[in-house]
Amino acid sequence: MKFDTKVVRAGIKPDPSTGAIVPPIYQSATYVLEEVGKDKGYDYTRASNPTREILENNLAALDGGIYGICFSSGMSAVDSVMKLLQSGDHVVCSDDVYGGVSRLYNNLIVNYNISFTYVDSSHPDEVEEAIQENTKLIWIETPTNPLLKVTDLSAVGKIAKKHGILYGVDSTFSTPALLRPLEFGADITMHSTTKYLSGHNQIIGGVLITNNDELAEKFKFIQKSVGAVPSPFDCWLTLLGIKTLSVRMHRHCENALAIAEYLESHPKIETVTYPGLRSHPQYEIAKEQMEGFSGMISMELKDGISAGISLMNNLKLCSLAESLGSVETMITHPATMTHADVPKNERFSRGLTDGLVRLSVGIEDKQDIIDDLNQALELSKA
Ligand code: PLP
Repeated sequence: MKFDTKVVRAGIKPDPSTGAIVPPIYQSATYVLEEVGKDKGYDYTRASNPTREILENNLAALDGGIYGICFSSGMSAVDSVMKLLQSGDHVVCSDDVYGGVSRLYNNLIVNYNISFTYVDSSHPDEVEEAIQENTKLIWIETPTNPLLKVTDLSAVGKIAKKHGILYGVDSTFSTPALLRPLEFGADITMHSTTKYLSGHNQIIGGVLITNNDELAEKFKFIQKSVGAVPSPFDCWLTLLGIKTLSVRMHRHCENALAIAEYLESHPKIETVTYPGLRSHPQYEIAKEQMEGFSGMISMELKDGISAGISLMNNLKLCSLAESLGSVETMITHPATMTHADVPKNERFSRGLTDGLVRLSVGIEDKQDIIDDLNQALELSKA
């Protein structure tokens, strides 16, 4: 199956008991055994559920993987990767990861004697230089949230292989429609399904995908042991969202490029970062490894933070909201919203300034989005 067919069909068969084309929501906590020791493949929904299983198989197929293991949030998927590690282990991580990921690592996981080195992974040599004797995991986000740094995944894959280190990629911003990290040597692909995959701001969820039997078994064990599982209804809503992933991503990419170009030429804008602009430092790598540049843009206004806040407060169509990857265009102030828990000195050292504004471009008519930005920029003042 080609990708555009997989989003609609992979892992989805008519319901065996009724022929329903849309998989039913198996909203059941438990399953009745025929006799002791004889079930129909399901015993308790924390361990497995038919609706969740369909979603897991669909998501695995989209990323070119064998196994998909779903979680109740992107964060619980990231946390489940941490549970592969032991006291004394070390992780090399992209420096511009989503603020919730660095909050988990720096405020909780460090208490288990696991240490982290953050590097600008858009320079793969920095990843290799940070490797220690006890490094057990390389964790990459590409493009990063919110500075949209792009990492050369096969270059890092070679480093991970050379040193025998587990290699995981948070591919939330790319989605399997644009990038499939397993094809570049990753052992684990992770997504917050809250974003583009479900696509309509309707659920919170996450997934880990792998081709490795042993890893899949461990993740299934963690899923069952911890119980951070999505509800059958959330799985069903996610499946419904995924069916239009290809067409939505196409539109997100088209709209975002037009808006990035508009912003780049606007006199009140200081910098625009979008992997699809030639001015982006990793434009060539993004073009080579991705099948589109996705819908995320970040920018700084010439008059700094107060102009940025004025812009965000004056928008009428675009929503001031803390998420991304949905059909609605959303604007965020990372310093006070998504990355508020990253200490100020750390934020500044990675280039995440108070004036940075992040735009998740939706699938509305692009001229309506530009008109809204235009009227708010007219009004914005320092
Ligand atoms: N990874 C990235 C890149 C994200 O942007 C987010 C959330 O914004 C997460 C992980 C966490 O996902 P969730 O909010 O579904 O827990």
